[in-house]
Amino acid sequence: MKTYKHIFFDLDHTLWDYEGNAGEALHELYDHYQLGEKGMFSKAELVETFFAVNDMLWDDYNHHRIQRKDLRERRFPTIFKRLGLAIELRPQNIEKEYIALSPTKGKVFDHVHKVLEYLSPKYELHIITNGFDDIQSTKMSSSGIADYFKAIITSETAGFRKPDPRIFQLAMDRSGAQAEHSLMIGDNLRTDIGGARDFGMDQVFFNPGRKSHTDKVTYEISGLKELMTLL
Ligand SMILES: [Mg+2]
Repeated sequence: MKTYKHIFFDLDHTLWDYEGNAGEALHELYDHYQLGEKGMFSKAELVETFFAVNDMLWDDYNHHRIQRKDLRERRFPTIFKRLGLAIELRPQNIEKEYIALSPTKGKVFDHVHKVLEYLSPKYELHIITNGFDDIQSTKMSSSGIADYFKAIITSETAGFRKPDPRIFQLAMDRSGAQAEHSLMIGDNLRTDIGGARDFGMDQVFFNPGRKSHTDKVTYEISGLKELMTLL
């Protein structure tokens, strides 16, 4: 195994439990707006539809087909349209409230704190995330992981999104790292793993759902605890 000095983590779906936290926020908003009485859909259907629409919009965002404001303007109207909620019954402020509420939720994946505690004396830890400064920083402080990381590079600051090599280059510049002594850990084969591979960095594919794939990855794990034996 190579000698690594710097470890770059993705944030959403890798450390911060995006699904769990978004789900909790959506449950609260469902109750707050009494959506059960306004529409014929359950909490579970709201959450399921949210992820279907959200994944589609984030994919569009990562492929530069839409901008941040489009993502926000389209998300809940598309969700409510799919759920058949009449326009006049749709809560107008729900996107704003979701954006404010969700990042304050602190769920992380199993063993995150233990693993970061183990890694931080041995390596320099950093974040490269396709996200927005304000939101990503709230997520990191709500979940109590902010202090583990030295450089935090968001696509908003960088002006480029993973897998663009320029965001990886900025991460090297900010952290003083070199690609050959760095490792990228993330859940997305295209943005995290493909981006790092093309940049000349080794990768750890975090694949908790054990999805099958044919990509060439340096290492693959299904739980973060495996990092404690790997590194
Ligand atoms: Mg991710």
